[in-house]
Amino acid sequence: MNKYELLKKHFGYDTFRYGQEEIIDMIVSGSDVLAIMPTGGGKSLCYQLPALLLDGICIVISPLIALMKDQVDGLNESGIPATYLNSTLTLSESNERVKEIIDNRYKLVYVAPERLLSDQFYDLSQRINISLIAVDESHCISQWGHDFRPSYKNIPLFINRLKTRPVVTAFTATATSYVVSEIKELLELNMPFELTTGFNRENLFYRVVKPKDKNKYVKDYLNNDFDQGSGIIYCSTRKAVESLSQKLKSQGFSAEGYHGGMESDTRTAIQEAFMLDQIKIIVATNAFGMGIDKPDVRFVLHYNMPKNMEAYYQEAGRAGRDGKKSVCILMYSPSDIVKQKLLIAQNYTDPQRDKIQRTNLQVLVNYCHTNDCLRDEIISYFGQKKAYIDCGSCGNCLNDSEFVDMSVESQKILSCIYRTNQRFGTNMIIKVLRGSKDKKIMNWELNKVSTYGIIPDISEGGLRELIMNLIARGYITMTVDQFPILKLNESSRAVLKGETKILVRKERIQVKDKKKSKKKPKTDLDYNRDLYDLLAEKRKSIASKKRVPLYVIFANSVLESMAFYLPTTKEAFLEIKGVGEKKFETYGQDFIDIIYEFKSK
Ligand code: ADP
Ligand code: MG
Ligand code: ZN
Repeated sequence: MNKYELLKKHFGYDTFRYGQEEIIDMIVSGSDVLAIMPTGGGKSLCYQLPALLLDGICIVISPLIALMKDQVDGLNESGIPATYLNSTLTLSESNERVKEIIDNRYKLVYVAPERLLSDQFYDLSQRINISLIAVDESHCISQWGHDFRPSYKNIPLFINRLKTRPVVTAFTATATSYVVSEIKELLELNMPFELTTGFNRENLFYRVVKPKDKNKYVKDYLNNDFDQGSGIIYCSTRKAVESLSQKLKSQGFSAEGYHGGMESDTRTAIQEAFMLDQIKIIVATNAFGMGIDKPDVRFVLHYNMPKNMEAYYQEAGRAGRDGKKSVCILMYSPSDIVKQKLLIAQNYTDPQRDKIQRTNLQVLVNYCHTNDCLRDEIISYFGQKKAYIDCGSCGNCLNDSEFVDMSVESQKILSCIYRTNQRFGTNMIIKVLRGSKDKKIMNWELNKVSTYGIIPDISEGGLRELIMNLIARGYITMTVDQFPILKLNESSRAVLKGETKILVRKERIQVKDKKKSKKKPKTDLDYNRDLYDLLAEKRKSIASKKRVPLYVIFANSVLESMAFYLPTTKEAFLEIKGVGEKKFETYGQDFIDIIYEFKSK
């Protein structure tokens, strides 16, 4: 059978996905391969299919012991003889399997990296014909990646002990250029054919939010913007997992917690129930997920900011493997950054690693503070050129919220950094700008610098946000130390001279707004419920036609305002917070029609 027939027969597909066919051809022609494809991109098929075409046995090395059984069961279901060897087997079971492998009963053998150097596996490997070695999750070999597994270092030792060297292939979803070069070197790949399919996943909608009350945000999201389907909510601690999952359960959601401190039987049961749709929402630490290949995960919410972009992208990437529209929301708060920095300090091993971790963390912090397209931020981080796109489906490209001009405040910040001789971090700069009477300020006589107290009217949080924004956009340089210092750079000058305008989303800065405080808070609006329902129905039909989340059309608060103010003209409509020109043009008339009809009844 040729590759197309095998694809159809065993996997049930008519066509290859981008990259798969090329990789398969290269493997079959005897070339090593290094493939970087996003989660859900279809890496497994790239070694499973050649395993069928080649003479001999394909050894698959994977860190995901818990999932080997599923993967092997799946292959057997598709008529591909496969088995696995790992620590979940009893001695007699593994002896039995070894015998079967020697008898040539299998085309694929999954093995845990810890086993490679065992006597049993050594004997076995000398007695069989290994056609191909596939190293899955190959970034685990890099110390600088985010999933370092020491036993991955056994792989080259194992390969070198073989009588003849088979084709060696490496697969990963997450690798920066540094990690890629490490994979090549440490795995001793032989002039590998390299393929990167790109990191853009068009069906994922990215958003960053900074909610005042994260629990409320989650609840509102689940109630309003999400119907049915499955989702994962990642928290950074076990405690948060327990408390949030309890809350959601008590509110009637089909949710369960999952973390490394739970009994392994319980965890397996929960994971299975999630796979079978008996549980809809998993609230979990990062212990959940490596290799979770449920295709129809509709959302991944991050309750806390993870440690770096690679971890975020991998976790968020568990949404939408089936290619359907799915949502990835990162809920961030400044305390998340503090927590991550503490973790880095606590796990200190050496200065180089420390620095890499801080640099990696900052990339994600910048992601949380950029005004630019989030998709663009992600794909450019993974080495593709920044496209400055307006992708039309991320929280920033679609954000209609108001910008405020913070150019003058930014100049004040920059000159404060300068006047205090570029010796301080964010906290001190904020204190100086706000005119704090802190002991340190007084001791160091910082109350005498000319920029002392020149921004009294923005909250500490707002100022921090603005500084983060300036760092994210490169107008301030922050050193990569345990106690980072703010410094000026070439780009700072344009801001100081007033050549560059600094616009920041108002919601982020929380500047005091006299007009706003007079207005009734939106939740107090005594809006018309019937009209609200009609508007919500319209929103739902538009959203499902466009296959986007509801709030992408209009947030609930916007519908509430419509059902309260009953706008029927463009001017009145644009008065409503959350309605920009663009949205008005696209949807305005539909909603005006409903309001008009409602009024005239
Ligand atoms: P990953 O790259 O994350 O390891 P998988 O190998 O688990 O991805 O594949 C993800 C999903 O894509 C699976 O459900 C798989 O069956 C599906 N898939 C793989 N190749 C194809 C293809 N050529 N056509 C359609 N679906 C495919
Ligand atoms: Mg995989
Ligand atoms: Zn975008």
